[in-house]
Amino acid sequence: MTTGLAGSLHDLSFAEMQQRLAADGLNQVHARSLWRALHGHADPLQPMPASFLGPLQRWLEKHLYANDADFFVDVPETVSETHSSDGMTRKYLLRLRDGRTVETVLMGYDGRFTACVSTQVGCAMGCVFCATGQMGFTRHLRPGEIIAQVLHVQRVLRSDHQTRLRNLVLMGMGEPLHNYDAVMKALATIADVRGPSLSKNRITISTVGLVPAIRRMADEGCPYNLALSLHGADDAQRQALIPVGKKWDMAELIEACRHYDRTIGKRIFIEWTMIAGQNDSPEIARQLAELLRGINVHINLIPLNPTAGFAGSATAHKAGLVFQRILRDAGYPVTFRQRRGIDVAAGCGQLKSDHSARTSAASS
Ligand code: SAH
Ligand code: SF4
Repeated sequence: MTTGLAGSLHDLSFAEMQQRLAADGLNQVHARSLWRALHGHADPLQPMPASFLGPLQRWLEKHLYANDADFFVDVPETVSETHSSDGMTRKYLLRLRDGRTVETVLMGYDGRFTACVSTQVGCAMGCVFCATGQMGFTRHLRPGEIIAQVLHVQRVLRSDHQTRLRNLVLMGMGEPLHNYDAVMKALATIADVRGPSLSKNRITISTVGLVPAIRRMADEGCPYNLALSLHGADDAQRQALIPVGKKWDMAELIEACRHYDRTIGKRIFIEWTMIAGQNDSPEIARQLAELLRGINVHINLIPLNPTAGFAGSATAHKAGLVFQRILRDAGYPVTFRQRRGIDVAAGCGQLKSDHSARTSAASS
């Protein structure tokens, strides 16, 4: 039966797909082969695998390929692809079915690959230094649209290197915990051993600090890693960069991290975008060390990527090293990340901004 409103096969969990096929008289075997085809190596169902048994072929003719089909698949189109000069970072601007675009990044070091995917078109959080924040919010991504980004980079890797994707970070466009249910549903599929099969330990959700959602992750025993974009060691510093810091103050945020730490016990990654003269002084490093005392964290220092809408500049390398030293001396593991991929405008949301600027310049 078709309803007139089509949905994505990639949005379905395995159980939902099984139920739907069972309701149409198809058994488990068909659910398994369709699931494998959707989340496997080939461009899904293009053409329809010959290995599908007759009943599934007929089901797809009616429910996927017919003009009035009630399902579609999420296979975004590549609008642009940029490679960094060192070849380590590749960035894709992908077009969704409604014409909106999102960024997906593939990074490789020492033959190990990490995908960075988007969870929303734009973002409602408005962090002043962030290209996505500067765009504003358009809409949430569906689970299938998040999964499709992982499938995209897996196909790229398979055709290029014959190697597997190892890590996944939700650090592209959007705030993952603002789109909680879709993100968790997508990750369940991405970690499914019958599907993309990424290890849960190698999946990291990065949040700007939505306190109730961090608590929910803890209370639900969320199996993925948590990264918190902190960027300020007190309310005034943080709120100057992150408007949502006014909704939940530092005390509430740190208490949520302690709750997560007590409940889950996994190390939290603290993300710190280093902005010259704003959050990179030795005094702030000492303040940060105090703030995080007793929480199991790893601190990542990332120099600011310049964006059109924010006048700040990246912390000088030397000042970054001093900041790192103070935190290390206080007992914290700290990584000071290089600005890899900056030549492909690898900052969050920047490829999309650049593309929009070029397209509007071309059409004006
Ligand atoms: N919304 C989530 C995840 C997406 S942003 C979050 O904020 O955590 C991923 C990371 O990129 C965040 O740590 C964010 O602070 C950082 N970021 C955004 N714009 C940046 C820029 N211009 N330079 C450096 N880091 C940036
Ligand atoms: Fe949104 Fe994250 Fe950018 Fe802030 S840094 S605007 S939360 S995507």
